[in-house]
Amino acid sequence: MKKLGFGMMRLPLLRNNKQSAVHQDEVNKMADYFLENGFKYIDTAYMYHDFMSENAVKRAFVERHPREDFLLADKMPVAMVRTAADYQRFFDEQLEKCGVDYFDYYLLHDITRQCIDKVETTGGFDFIQELKTRGKVKQIGFSYHDTADVLDEILSNHPEVDFVQLQINYVDWNCDIIQSRRNYEVCVKHGKPVVVMEPIKGGTLANIPTEAEKLFKGFAPEKSAASWALRFAASLENVMMVLGGMSNFEQMLDNVATMAELKPINSEEHNLIDQAVGIINDATAVACTNCRYCVNHEPGCLVDIAIPEYLSLYNDVHRFGRSWPTTQAYRNLTKEHGSPADCTACGNCESHCPQHIDIIEQLQRVAEIFG
Ligand code: SF4
Ligand code: SF4
Repeated sequence: MKKLGFGMMRLPLLRNNKQSAVHQDEVNKMADYFLENGFKYIDTAYMYHDFMSENAVKRAFVERHPREDFLLADKMPVAMVRTAADYQRFFDEQLEKCGVDYFDYYLLHDITRQCIDKVETTGGFDFIQELKTRGKVKQIGFSYHDTADVLDEILSNHPEVDFVQLQINYVDWNCDIIQSRRNYEVCVKHGKPVVVMEPIKGGTLANIPTEAEKLFKGFAPEKSAASWALRFAASLENVMMVLGGMSNFEQMLDNVATMAELKPINSEEHNLIDQAVGIINDATAVACTNCRYCVNHEPGCLVDIAIPEYLSLYNDVHRFGRSWPTTQAYRNLTKEHGSPADCTACGNCESHCPQHIDIIEQLQRVAEIFG
């Protein structure tokens, strides 16, 4: 199977910052092109796009293509589970929203040390195993955002899982917080294939600092920055799929071109990537991937602060300096959302951030810059 999956969490929007307003016509066009080029793997989740990603999957794929032409992965919203009965309720709702009667891949979503006890006591792993036995899902796994020691323990306790979804990209590969490499090695040790999420780190590795871009363009002028990131992840032997969260048709064209005939990263390219990592880290103020878990997980931000958007502005200012467009974008955000200065430091957001970002402190800095 070709290693590019269509991640349905950063779809094109009809209106900026309105996650539920998915541009369905554009998604349909992207879906058709994806399948026409021999790619099959679609990845969605209950909470993506303010709970509308599964509906977009239904419209783009299920209602327009034979079911056997694509493989569908969906995820149990573990953070929203309160009792054992919730698992079946969410699963039935997901089948209905997607318009299917089985999933090819099914994951417990966003497993961390904070939630693992709840998942164990409510029987989350038993539930997905039972789904597999009943033929409602074909392969079971979990997406994971924590350290390698905890992953090792979970996989030792649950040899029944078929695969693990990990955040892997060249910037996080040796990062002590994300631990991409160490988590990957744990999966290799347990014989579990890996699905890669965030290979382009929330899009940031498609738009890298000029100095890093020059390095890549000097070696391969025709290749995009995103292609280097996709190839890095896909070159890992134990990786079975790399999810691209594509937001427009041009990104789909570029990713499909990169992954149609995968050329593994060679040692000279690895050296260039190592140099690029240093440049990118120096230019990044906050390592936000725009995953939106901080605002989508219940109860969310009670003063409606657009956390990812403000952090993105902060990174823009860090790289390019404060400008009229960033100031205007800040003003527009504050008209529709709470401002960073409204933060009550309740901590709801930080507990759900897979990148372990000190959101409260970073928002204070944004308030200082623009306030
Ligand atoms: S800590 Fe601040 S930004 Fe985070 S959820 Fe609470 S009020 Fe919102
Ligand atoms: S702050 Fe954290 S949880 Fe929120 S969008 Fe960024 S990476 Fe995701």
